[in-house]
Amino acid sequence: MRTVGVLALQGDFAAHAAALLRHGLATRQVRRPEHLVGIAGLVLPGGESTTMLNLLASQGLEQPLAQFLRVGSVPVFATCAGLILLAREVSDPPQRSYGVLDVKVARNGYGRQIASGRFSIAGDGVPAGTTGVFIRAPRIVQTGSGVKTLASRGADPVLVQQGQVLAACFHPELEDDHVVVRTFARLVHASADQ
Ligand code: GLN
Repeated sequence: MRTVGVLALQGDFAAHAAALLRHGLATRQVRRPEHLVGIAGLVLPGGESTTMLNLLASQGLEQPLAQFLRVGSVPVFATCAGLILLAREVSDPPQRSYGVLDVKVARNGYGRQIASGRFSIAGDGVPAGTTGVFIRAPRIVQTGSGVKTLASRGADPVLVQQGQVLAACFHPELEDDHVVVRTFARLVHASADQ
């Protein structure tokens, strides 16, 4: 079985592990630099991005993760706070980020907890009728030319892909069998088959 790393410092990493297992992928919790070695893909889960950045620094993972992302040899799936970590530019409030995904993101661009919920999303990357669970979700306010929008909520891109990086503003891992988890699993198998 192929093993996908799930950054497990904070946030909903357990839900990602359970979702990937349903698609034939084993997972490994990534808490130290050596856990990044040999994985067939990496998940950056939702949670609280500032806390994650602090923990990445205190666990000695900040630079190893930067290096891993720069090499970019396996698929990466970032949801919510994970997407914020990867963005080129972060506002509302501003924060440092890895910059490997060419989007500008407003961290709390959909409002506070009260504005969270399930919303319809549409686009070439998802079948008609797909929904996403948004929780204090980041809002993508600009995408670079190398970024493909696979689904939008209204006019906003909410599922994007740039090369091996797949990123969602919502939480597909919280649903039983969300199409976007399948999309990532396919990317992992295709990349490992090469
Ligand atoms: N708004 C949160 C942040 O800034 C992300 C919310 C989430 O991951 N559900 O980190």
